[in-house]
Amino acid sequence: MGKLSLISNEIYTILILALVLGLDFPLTSANLFTLDFNETNAYNHISTQLDFGFRVPGTASHNNCADWIGGQIGIYTDEVMIHDYSIQIGEQPSYFCQDILGKLNTEKNKIVILGAHWDSRNVAEKDTYNQSQPIPGANDGGSGVAVLIELARVLSLYKDNLDCQIWFLFIDAEDQGYSRGMYGLEYWDWSEGSRVFVDDIDEFYDSSAENFDSFILLDMVGGSNLQFIREANSDSNLHNRIFREGQKLGYSSAFPENPTVMSIIDDHIAFKDFGMPVIDLIIDFVNGEWEYHHTHSDNLENIDPESLKITGQTVESYMKNFYTVGFPVWAYFVIILGSIILVIIPIVLLFRKRR
Ligand SMILES: [Zn+2]
Repeated sequence: MGKLSLISNEIYTILILALVLGLDFPLTSANLFTLDFNETNAYNHISTQLDFGFRVPGTASHNNCADWIGGQIGIYTDEVMIHDYSIQIGEQPSYFCQDILGKLNTEKNKIVILGAHWDSRNVAEKDTYNQSQPIPGANDGGSGVAVLIELARVLSLYKDNLDCQIWFLFIDAEDQGYSRGMYGLEYWDWSEGSRVFVDDIDEFYDSSAENFDSFILLDMVGGSNLQFIREANSDSNLHNRIFREGQKLGYSSAFPENPTVMSIIDDHIAFKDFGMPVIDLIIDFVNGEWEYHHTHSDNLENIDPESLKITGQTVESYMKNFYTVGFPVWAYFVIILGSIILVIIPIVLLFRKRR
């Protein structure tokens, strides 16, 4: 053999190796995507909500904020639907309520719901002063809404790679229930809005073609010292997947190995009763590190952008890892087998020609 053809064989081998490695890398690498969630955007979304005032049903601030949420989510989703209803309890006045739903990837049949309540509490029963006055609700309400809007932005950039439809659902009338001798709105229960939404859910999807995959609720995700609990009504698979995702990103203090176990009444219950795997990503607001729950200090000062980032990036990463359109499993075997053949044959040829 002449020297020239030997060199070209080596080059051929290197080229094939490079091709194979190049093919394998994006297919087997753990993260095929970047994380784009921006905590400053989310923080600003909380600030905007607070600028509207208290988002208590029956107020102008409430209505104005609903319009703003609808406008924001409309930028990033394919379709916005508004769920209008009234809540009227006993002899009490009737209150106009609205759930806001933004749908991404409406052509996909499998639906993942990302939810948060957007109303804020009408009383500060856990404070030491002005207990009958409404709270800002920066964390309780505001943070979940803010993270959801920013998630809509980043997931809309990635939508063609997703094999699911995503609903961004902003739920009204969650936070007016009874605590420490006080109702938010007289005789209301917690999570009034989500029950009405689930009762009316047939108006929002085609049950013959579409199905629900899971429901992920974000509630109080923006306080400092973020540490999520193991919420007892939540699906354990969903819990483990999301906690592992957070730990993988290095957020093991927010997603601890042995989280506090608590049962919380929240908007996920109605969706669980409907039959979906659900999770409530929430903190221990009873004995935990964040002490401003249902007080006037639930304000911007007590929001930590790092917590918004931890929550947002973890959900973004979870969605991209579990719902990216992938090759079928057999395709991986074909690629690996093909890689071996493509590597071995040139090496054998090369050595035979060298002798
Ligand atoms: Zn609350």
